Amino acid sequence: LSSTSLEAQYHESVYRIMTTDGLTQVYNKRFLLEVLDRELARARRRQAPLSLLMMDIDHFKSINDRWGHLAGDAVLTEFARRISQAMEGDELLARFGGEEFALVLPDTPLEEATQIAEMLRATVANAPVLTEGLEIPVTVSIGVAEYSAADMASVPALLEAADQMLYRAKNSGRNQVQALRS
Ligand code: GH3
Ligand code: MG
Ligand code: MG
Repeated sequence: LSSTSLEAQYHESVYRIMTTDGLTQVYNKRFLLEVLDRELARARRRQAPLSLLMMDIDHFKSINDRWGHLAGDAVLTEFARRISQAMEGDELLARFGGEEFALVLPDTPLEEATQIAEMLRATVANAPVLTEGLEIPVTVSIGVAEYSAADMASVPALLEAADQMLYRAKNSGRNQVQALRS
């Protein structure tokens, strides 16, 4: 190995560590915010749609309490794996914090994003997570927002809108999708 390729490898692994969540191996919040900035500018420039899903696992504290923290970790990992596997385009999945994940959908209008959210919700709810001989039922609540509306033309506003819809999904009984209609 030449010293330049060692250096390239080194930079690559530093980059991966800086942008990836250690537990679930999806992107981290820092990287998500960077990408959202870039994608929003791109969508604005090209007048293309852009949607954001905020997903929060339901009653995750109870999952930890009932099955243990390690089982909780396995639920997070399996959740990220299922979402990644169900998607196959230029979307970006990131762990936003704790048991909350964000999915950025470039070139995707609200209606389509809502259908995708519903498919992902079902993917999680339809089969329990299997770990260490346990069968753990898991559900997720999802909020969906599209950037296009004039009052959502910034990253914080888009995050806030998706978060409000997530809040509504929680309050309406969880295990469901809520989308902001403009
Ligand atoms: P809700 O349905 O309203 O979302 O309720 P919740 O219990 O999912 O939400 P809450 O925010 O009360 O609990 C989140 C829990 O997630 C609390 C915290 O201990 C746990 N948690 C955060 N990060 C991790 C992690 O990396 N591993 C595990 N096992 N638990 C985590
Ligand atoms: Mg939760
Ligand atoms: Mg939460």
